[in-house]
Amino acid sequence: MAKLFGTNGIRGVFAEDLSLEFIHDITLAIATYFKKGSILVGYDGRTSSPTITKIVCSTLNSVGFDCKNAGLIPTPCLEIATKNLGYSGGIMITASHNPPQYNGIKPVASDGVEISREDELIIEDIYFNKKWKKDYTKLGKTEPEKNTIKTYLDAVTSHVNSNKIMSRKFKVVLDLGNGAQAVTAPLLCNELGCKVITINENIDGTFSGRGSEPTPSNLKKLSDTVVKTGSDLGVAFDGDGDRSIFCDEKGEILTGDKSALLLSNFILSKNPNSTIVTCLNSGSGIETLAQKAKSNVIRTKVGSVEVSRKMVQTGALIGFEENGGFMYGKHNQVRDGAMTLALVLDLLSFSGKTMSEETKLLPQSFTTKDKVACSKEDASKLIKTLADQNPHSNTTDGIKIAFDKTNWVMVRPSGTEPIIRIYAEADSQEKLKILMSEYLAKINSILFR
Ligand code: MG
Repeated sequence: MAKLFGTNGIRGVFAEDLSLEFIHDITLAIATYFKKGSILVGYDGRTSSPTITKIVCSTLNSVGFDCKNAGLIPTPCLEIATKNLGYSGGIMITASHNPPQYNGIKPVASDGVEISREDELIIEDIYFNKKWKKDYTKLGKTEPEKNTIKTYLDAVTSHVNSNKIMSRKFKVVLDLGNGAQAVTAPLLCNELGCKVITINENIDGTFSGRGSEPTPSNLKKLSDTVVKTGSDLGVAFDGDGDRSIFCDEKGEILTGDKSALLLSNFILSKNPNSTIVTCLNSGSGIETLAQKAKSNVIRTKVGSVEVSRKMVQTGALIGFEENGGFMYGKHNQVRDGAMTLALVLDLLSFSGKTMSEETKLLPQSFTTKDKVACSKEDASKLIKTLADQNPHSNTTDGIKIAFDKTNWVMVRPSGTEPIIRIYAEADSQEKLKILMSEYLAKINSILFR
């Protein structure tokens, strides 16, 4: 089990868990793992991000590594640029959707994908045993990298029919969530001939608009703006721009599961016999779609790294998480908010239907999730109690209690925050409501008795 790496990179509260010394030491460990430069470094809009970036770059330079500073960009922009511009590795300074006091360090391999769980352990071994490079005889240099945004937008638009999208002149509302897609998503929409309306477009490390994580409960402004302006769709990104939650032309917010089904249906119709990778906590609709397209679904533990690395290993075409993280294998095996938006525009231009008409064609799926504040110790006790009560459940990752294919509950400690998350699916909205409230009551009674 990794000690420093959580579900997604190393995260902590800046100047506490993520002290300046820690940032220095872990950067040396990452440099030793990368073996050679040049390394591409980028950061999200958090207040502490530029300071951490300076420490990371200076530390790399101190042991002879050159690096390029890409500035403030979304995580998927750094990832594709690391691959397409030929860097030995990348480091993204981000805590994604965590609260403002957090930040994090996410190493990216030269293939443009987050490093594997095995490689995280290698870095931890170097760190804990202080086996890092200590040769200060030749210093490296830091220079700016100005081509990342163009590289990113060119890569995204190369996978869609830009002319067809442009001819539709879509009206799109972007809820940028004060986050990093503010520097790229509006440019992408302009390139694709869309009329753009932005909300929460100022980058702000406190995420003062609606917080850093887009959820159905904090996207009312997005939904109202779509309806008021008669837009074709709306989309909200998380803090570092790798996740996207969509809103149809009627102002209805789609779950991440639903938008993933929408895109999978479109992509599989053109590419049958494909592989899809998703986590244990996403809905069962994907199996129904895959069967129709003679494709197969691989389920992994929760976490984008699990999905990404399984995609690389199996050559999968599609990967997704229920939280709005969607991966298109032809582009890069990572979550990418702008790529996902471009694919949705491609789908709508291709079908000529509206987004709500498109979602109506999907297999019915009723999923929901909730969270309860809970320490790591209490979370383990809770999972153990539930496992004792349900001996035949799946305990690969937290616990998944399945009553049948479409009715299940999953309880899992978050890998990034002191909370437990509860996910559920049922075959009707009424059953889902009853199931969720039953389990919330059960969990609270175990935790607080
Ligand atoms: Mg993110």
